[in-house]
Amino acid sequence: MDNITPNDMTAIVEADRAHVWHHLLPHKPLETNDPRIIVEGKGMRVWDQKGKEHIDGVSGGVWTVNVGYGRVEIADAVRDQLVKMNYFAQSAGSIPGSRFAEKLISKMPGLSRVYYANSGSEANEKAFKMVRQISARQHGGKKHKILFRHRDYHGTTIACLSAGGQEHRNMQYGPFTPGFVSVPHCLEYRAHEQGLAGDDYGVAIANEIEKVILREGPDTIGALCLEPITAGGGVIVPPKGYWERVQEIVEKYDILLHIDEVVCGVGRTGTWFGYQHYGVKPDFVTMAKGVASGYAAISCCVTSEKVFDMFKDDHADPLGYFRDISTFGGCTAGPAAALANMKIIEDEGLLENTIQMGEYMLDQLWALSEKHEVIGEARGKGLFLGAELVKDRKTKEPADEKMVQAVVADCMAQGTIIGATNRSVPGYNNTLCFSPALIATKDDLDQIVASVDEALGRVFG
Ligand code: PMP
Repeated sequence: MDNITPNDMTAIVEADRAHVWHHLLPHKPLETNDPRIIVEGKGMRVWDQKGKEHIDGVSGGVWTVNVGYGRVEIADAVRDQLVKMNYFAQSAGSIPGSRFAEKLISKMPGLSRVYYANSGSEANEKAFKMVRQISARQHGGKKHKILFRHRDYHGTTIACLSAGGQEHRNMQYGPFTPGFVSVPHCLEYRAHEQGLAGDDYGVAIANEIEKVILREGPDTIGALCLEPITAGGGVIVPPKGYWERVQEIVEKYDILLHIDEVVCGVGRTGTWFGYQHYGVKPDFVTMAKGVASGYAAISCCVTSEKVFDMFKDDHADPLGYFRDISTFGGCTAGPAAALANMKIIEDEGLLENTIQMGEYMLDQLWALSEKHEVIGEARGKGLFLGAELVKDRKTKEPADEKMVQAVVADCMAQGTIIGATNRSVPGYNNTLCFSPALIATKDDLDQIVASVDEALGRVFG
């Protein structure tokens, strides 16, 4: 804020109010309340236009700034790259593009090709298009359907919404793209609502995927697209046995496995990728948010050599190759930032910190549940955590969405930014979400949990 005067700031706020259409916010409240402008960030903390300090419990609001704010080494890497060579279409390569692809693939055994794009939605669209083209070339277009899971989210475009398992996000945006088919969510805490509660829930709920495949016809299903751990749908950690059974099913029916690591990717859960906790073998892995921690826009659709090879004879056929481009997939700022981001994670041991701090915070959330009946379950992996709020622990009736949002607002007033599932799955917008930067210390996490403690006390009494 150094060289911005109070008058400048007033003008900035008014320009924002007059001209910026904010994401995910209704207009009306901003007519009377000032929009929040985030002016500066350092480590785990940000400052707004009034100079108020906030601890950020959700890494830029949407689980993005994995290595924290104010990383001069990333800014320097981007600057150096931009003055040398900022952009050329990805029909040509770039120095950071090659280097980052090599580095990334070194963390992803079994995968080998990186397709660059800009956003999580776009990376998912690339995978969907590859599946459709493989179907067109190898199966006469029949194996074109893509399975997705209830409560998962894959992005904001119409095809991604067609693969979206959060009804609130889809309402009023139809009609949708055909060929996307839903399978049930795997939230064990709510297994009773699916009539499947029991020790073998993980296998039982994965078997529901097989039932959908058999109903639709296995020769019509091209891919299964899943988040490794569902994010905005309620921080859903798949139950024991689930992923093993999923892997068997996709192999049995020759279905490509697409894992959406847009949230879990690049360290969030304490491994490089969320799927690596489960030993599954994906054909596609898409990633975005944490790839460059928000220092540049970059996303990647990473594929196996098996997928790449399906386009092998493309030169002989004018329609054979992947006729796709992402203009800004050629920006070199993305891979330059991503390389520097990965170096920080390695040099500072942030995967290890994420595992330790994640366990610590999960314990703290469970401890909080002893005091606040409203916490039905705390769950998560690494620094990717949630606390599901319920009216009654026995019936597990979800807490009222407005009260859950009141907890978020109370925390915000205290200078602590947390998130909550919000207008995503009707009736189940009742989970508080936490995704602090991977640099978090016990003191940082204590501060976040203390704010939640106070807020829960005030909102639920
Ligand atoms: N997949 C998942 C799991 C996400 O959470 C998101 C964004 N919240 C997306 C895809 C879409 O990413 P983007 O907003 O960058 O398009």
